[in-house]
Amino acid sequence: NTGDIKILLLEDINRTARELLQKEGYQVEFHTSSLQDIDLIEKIRDVHVIGIRSKTKLTASVLDHAENLLAIGCFCIGTDQVDLEYAAKRGVTVFNSPFSNSRSVAELVIAEVIMLARRIGDKSMEMHSGTWQKGSARCREIRGKVLGIIGYGHIGSQLSVLAESVGMSVLFYDVVPLMAIGKARQVKSLSELLVSSDFVTLHVPETHETRDLIGRTELMAMKEGSYLINASRGRVVDLQALWYEPPLIIDQPVLSDVLIANLCLENIYMCSEAMRSGHLAGAALDVFPREPSADGPYFNKDLARWATEIRNLPNIILTPHIGGSTEEAQEAIGAEVGEALLGYINFGCTIGAANMPEVALRSITVAEESHLRVIFIHQNRPGVLRQVNDILGDHNVDKQMSDSRGDVSIRAQEPLLARLACSR
Ligand code: NAD
Repeated sequence: NTGDIKILLLEDINRTARELLQKEGYQVEFHTSSLQDIDLIEKIRDVHVIGIRSKTKLTASVLDHAENLLAIGCFCIGTDQVDLEYAAKRGVTVFNSPFSNSRSVAELVIAEVIMLARRIGDKSMEMHSGTWQKGSARCREIRGKVLGIIGYGHIGSQLSVLAESVGMSVLFYDVVPLMAIGKARQVKSLSELLVSSDFVTLHVPETHETRDLIGRTELMAMKEGSYLINASRGRVVDLQALWYEPPLIIDQPVLSDVLIANLCLENIYMCSEAMRSGHLAGAALDVFPREPSADGPYFNKDLARWATEIRNLPNIILTPHIGGSTEEAQEAIGAEVGEALLGYINFGCTIGAANMPEVALRSITVAEESHLRVIFIHQNRPGVLRQVNDILGDHNVDKQMSDSRGDVSIRAQEPLLARLACSR
């Protein structure tokens, strides 16, 4: 019965999702802020679904208190705030929305291309400080210029369309061969892209290969007077406590994370070096290796650390990781994650789940009274499927599907005797 399902939505999750879930008849409790520690543990104890954004930390110790939890909806891009593996072990499926803000990022980047070419950031700051300084020196049109896109995925390919529509030529570099949109052309190497582009923009995920992708060598390989844009990913790891006050005992993964963060920061210094020398004509950075949280204790120190290096450079646009931050993107995220939760709770569909194998039986929108759908999440061990089949042996199982991901397996079956059910 949908009226029995209790949903807790934290962090002011978009109205689209709230309405979708309420309309379904679920009991929805809504909070504008996140909950911490005891309050979170108290609230999560009883609910079937929790919806969060990035501030609520769902660690193993919090999840241990979630007695009825079936699913977590991360109404954002990342899932770092959730212990995905532990959630899977407890049979809790996690959904997020990796691509709903792609268009927003692409639009920001195309705006930055124009703003850098016209030095709008500096002009605006001059006006704010009361200086009227008109001039056309080093201001250019973007028509006919070459945009080099590194990473031609959801954002890179959207950007490609926008760039061509304003008269730019597009080159892209990607590790996989991809269908070029419009007149865009894939180049074979990063260096080919760097030497040929007037604007270089990064749209790759953060992986071991992409960390440090652009260093001193790459910046110096870029054309004299070209521009760099990074709205992909800085080093976004929760290391704030370690950065300034390293603990006496640092285990290996944490240590390497600190080193990686330092390397990324070096890139910003190199970038500033390249700009100070005049080699780069401008840069726009939306993401940073150590991103301060506005209310975190290290905000000022973090800000000071990188801001002193780059704040006073000419023609540099700095934005606080807002590439995907638009109302449209929030609505799209609300709809996507809301629909995914609904599909899981009502029909056991795990397509798009961040920590579970993907299963979806056909006709997921059909709920006939005489049918039952069973979702069975279990450890990936021999013999379990036989036991399940033994239990269901007397029923007419119309369709079944199973898949595994690491230590966790999931099995969906239908139709049986009653309506819908979920079991762990
Ligand atoms: P995507 O997965 O759709 O595309 C990434 C592309 O990069 C893929 O085509 C992949 O093959 C390619 N790639 C991977 N490694 C590469 C390498 N070493 N060299 C060249 N290409 C490589 O991702 P997306 O949705 O387009 O997002 C791209 C990045 O943008 C992500 O890192 C994401 O975190 C970031 N992002 C930032 C914001 C923001 O607010 N600034 C918002 C959304 C996403």
